[in-house]
Order: sequence, then structure tokens, then C-alpha cells
Amino acid sequence: MTSAFDDLLDANKRFAETFDLAGFDGVAHAGIAIVTCMDSRIDPLGMLGLTPGDAKIFRNPGGRVTPQALEALVLGVHLLQVKRILVVPHTRCAMASATLEELRSRVGESAGQDASWQHFGVVADQESALRDDVRQVRSHRLIPDSIAVGGFLYDVDTGLLEQRV
Ligand SMILES: [Zn+2]
Repeated sequence: MTSAFDDLLDANKRFAETFDLAGFDGVAHAGIAIVTCMDSRIDPLGMLGLTPGDAKIFRNPGGRVTPQALEALVLGVHLLQVKRILVVPHTRCAMASATLEELRSRVGESAGQDASWQHFGVVADQESALRDDVRQVRSHRLIPDSIAVGGFLYDVDTGLLEQRV
């Protein structure tokens, strides 16, 4: 069977030849969880000097602390050895630089149909959204105070991370 994914499956065969994570337990070996944006300019492990196996990573548009992100963090903290949580939105994020109307109209244009019903989690004020997101994690009943939680802004032009919360 040929598919649109053949090149990727070929690459996967080469990957599997040197695969060394077999039998890996799936905990966060460095005790880190990261919530960040889906943006392809972000390398969540690389930017923190980590390697596969070190961290639990949850990504979505904007790097927001959604109910599902909280679900991941609760599991990470209690079952996967997470001790430190980083919430990491970034500069020049599409979710923070466009309005809901703009995104709907751009997607609608691309789709050739109405997209005014589609939800997009746009961020009007990135700094205050980050404060809210970090507060949500810190105040979660199932995330104990012993867990360090920080809010950071990642600069996609310099690669630098700056703690804001
Ligand atoms: Zn983004």
C-alpha cells in the first residue's frame, strides 16, 4: 500500500534501526513537564538542554493551560515523577497576534467556506494570559505546593527563554 506518508514511514524504519528507548518506563526522567505552543519554531526539549525521556510535553495553539493540559499535568505530577512545570508561550505567536475574526476569516478563505463557527483560543494579552495559566496550575487541588510552577516567554528569534511568572 502506498500512502501520503511513505517518506515518513521510510524515515521511521531508519529511526527504528538505532532505537534505544525499548522498555522505557515513560516517566519524566528529569522531572519536567512543559506546556507550550504547537509552533514548529519551538524545540521544547532542545531549548532546555533535555533529551527524549526527560519531560512530559503538552502542546496546543498558544501553549495554553486548558482543561486537558491540567489533566496531563495532574497525571505527570502523580504518576510520572514531574516535579517542575513550565508554561511556555512564545513571541510572534499567531494565537496572540490575530483576532478571532481575523483567524476565522483567514481559515474561511483557505477552506472556501464559512468558518465563523470555529472556536480559536486567541490570546488578547499574552502576559495576563500567562499569569492566569500559571495561577490555574498552582491553585489546582491535585497539584501540591511542592511542585515548582513557572511561566516563561520563549523568543523564537533568539532562542532565549525568560521567566515572567
Ligand atoms: Zn504559537
